[in-house]
Amino acid sequence: MSREAEILDQLRSIIDPDLGKDIVSLGFIKNLRHDEAGRVSFTVELTTPACPIKEQFKTRCEEAIRALPWVTAVEVALSARAREAGANPLLARAPGLEKVRHIIAVSSCKGGVGKSTTAVNLAYSLARLGGRIGIFDADVYGPSLPTLVSPKNRELFMRNELIQPLEFEGIRLMSFGFVPAGPGGGAAIMRGPMVTQVINQLLTTTEWGELDYLVIDFPPGTGDIQLTLTQLIPITAAVIVTTPQQLSFVDVVKGIQMFDKLKVPTVAVVENMSYFLCPDNGKKYYVFGQGARQKLIDQFGIQNSFEIPLEPEISRLSDSGTPVVLADPDGRLAKLYLDIASSVVREVARIEHGGLARPKVSFSAGRGIVLTLAGGEERIAAPADVRRACRCAHCIEEFSGRPLLDPASVPDNIYPRSITPMGNYAVAISWSDGHSSSIYPYDQLLKLAK
Ligand SMILES: [Zn+2]
Repeated sequence: MSREAEILDQLRSIIDPDLGKDIVSLGFIKNLRHDEAGRVSFTVELTTPACPIKEQFKTRCEEAIRALPWVTAVEVALSARAREAGANPLLARAPGLEKVRHIIAVSSCKGGVGKSTTAVNLAYSLARLGGRIGIFDADVYGPSLPTLVSPKNRELFMRNELIQPLEFEGIRLMSFGFVPAGPGGGAAIMRGPMVTQVINQLLTTTEWGELDYLVIDFPPGTGDIQLTLTQLIPITAAVIVTTPQQLSFVDVVKGIQMFDKLKVPTVAVVENMSYFLCPDNGKKYYVFGQGARQKLIDQFGIQNSFEIPLEPEISRLSDSGTPVVLADPDGRLAKLYLDIASSVVREVARIEHGGLARPKVSFSAGRGIVLTLAGGEERIAAPADVRRACRCAHCIEEFSGRPLLDPASVPDNIYPRSITPMGNYAVAISWSDGHSSSIYPYDQLLKLAK
C-alpha cells in the first residue's frame, strides 16, 4: 500500500458523529502531503468554522496518523468550506444577503417568552464557537435588540444603496429600533402586508457581508406575517422558544407546523423560565410543571430541547445591554446557551449534507407500512401494531401515561388512509378507523418495524 493510501486508511476510522460518515468519504481531507522523512500534513475542511468539535477532530487525526510506524511528524490544519455562490436562488435576489450562508429563525407563538433574549444569546454563543454572525430583529412593533445590546455607534448610513449594519462585540446588527421613525408615526400604523414588505426590505438591503449564520429574531406569533416571512426568506432552520405553562406545548406544535409547511426544519426547542434554581440548596424547582420536553421527544422526535432556568440575572443583564453570555462567559447560563448553539451548528451541518436521514414512509396493501431507509433498505411494520402504539391524547392519558386505547378494539385489517411528514422527525397518520391524531417519530416507527 502506498503511504498516501495508508494515511487515508487511518483517517477513514474517524467518523463525523453528525453526518454518520467518515471524514475521507465526506471530502474533508485537503492538501495532503507527506515526504521521505515521514512528515505528514493536511487540512481538515469542515462544513462550518463554528464546528463545536473541531479540536476533537484535530486531535483524533493526529493520533490516527501517529499510529503509522513510519510517521515522524504530523501537522493538521483546520479550515471551513467556502459558501457556494448562487446556491440559494432566494439569496441571489437579495443583494445584502448574498454572502450569508445560513439563516436561523428564532420564533415563538406568543410574546413575553424570552424569544429575543434567546436569539441574542444564541448569536453570541455561535460567535464564540467561531462563526461570523449577524442578528436581525424582525419585530416591527416591539423591537428589542436596541435594549439587549449596546453598540457605541447607533447611526445608520448607506453605502452603494445598501444599509450598513451596526456592530456590537463582533456581531452585525439590524433592527427597526435603529431606524429613525419617519413622519406619520412609524411602525404602529402599518398593517400586515406592509409589515412583511418592510421587514423584507430592511433585511435584504442591509449589507450583511460574509456571515456563517444570520440569526433572525422573528416577530412573535404564527400568523400571516410570520408565514409570509418564512416564504420570503431562505431560512435554513428554526429554533422555537416557549415557556413551560400547560398551553405552551400547543404553541410549540403550531410553530413546528408553520415552518413545516414551508419545509423549514425545527432543529431545537428552548424552554425559558423552565425551573427555579434555589440559591440556598441548589435544587431545581419546576414551578410550572414538567413534561413538555418528553412530549416533544415522544411525539415529534425532537431531541434538542433545552431548559433555561428562571433567573433574574438574565433579564437584569439584558436590560443593561449586555447579553448574559458576554457578561458571565464561564457561568452556567453561558454553558447552556453554548449547548444550544452547538446543537444548531450540528443540525445545520446535517441538513446541508443531503438532509437528515429520515426514512420514506408509505403503505403497501399487501405488505404493510413500508419504511425505506436512506440506503434503499426496507423495513415493514404491521399497521395494527402501529395503530396500537399511538401516543396521542386520545390513546394515552396525557399526564399519567395510562393507556386509554384497548388494543383489542383495533382490527387487524386496519390501514392508513394517509401518511404525511410532520416536522423533521415524524409522520402523521390518519387511519381507516377514523382516528386521525396519530403522530409517530421515525425512531418509534423503526422500533415497531421488522
Ligand atoms: Zn391516538
